[in-house]
Amino acid sequence: MRLWAVRGDITAVDVDVVVNAANPALLGGGGVDGAIHAAGGPEILAECRRITCRLPDGRLPRGEAVATTAGRLPARWVVHTAGPIWSASHDRAEVLRSCYRSSLQVADELGARTVAFPAISAGIYGWPMDDAARQAVAGVRSAAVEHVGDVRFVVFDDEALAAFEAALSD
Ligand code: ADP
Repeated sequence: MRLWAVRGDITAVDVDVVVNAANPALLGGGGVDGAIHAAGGPEILAECRRITCRLPDGRLPRGEAVATTAGRLPARWVVHTAGPIWSASHDRAEVLRSCYRSSLQVADELGARTVAFPAISAGIYGWPMDDAARQAVAGVRSAAVEHVGDVRFVVFDDEALAAFEAALSD
């Protein structure tokens, strides 16, 4: 599996699966989530609603992942995962790694070969970028996949790109 990082807008990348840094309610929001729903159109939210209806309490547990259509995005599917909120007093790193592992498993079951991830939890959820990048790389490397051969981290700025390049070279 090839892992690499690139600067860009995740809604524009031509891959089989785009991973969404969602929240447990899967109702859209800001950051990556808002951008994916805005660019992908209402079909994505409609499918999210059908999924949350069937989930206990109508919520996706943090660290787990589900797939929907990608609507009008160039991707074939969006895999939604809810990252943990950063806490200085609780170590939630395993939940963050699980977001990457679970998303890749869902993507692999769909037969995806190329997957793009944002820096999950490193925006509104407040995770420090350097550690978010380390957990991202560790989470991807811990996944057992059959079809996925290309995983790219699509990040918004130079600081995030440097953090991912450092984590990838460890
Ligand atoms: P979370 O709620 O999990 O923290 P956010 O969506 O707030 O997720 O942010 C995650 C990261 O994605 C941040 O580093 C943010 O700058 C970046 N980001 C926001 N929009 C995009 C986009 N369209 N493409 C790629 N990265 C983005």
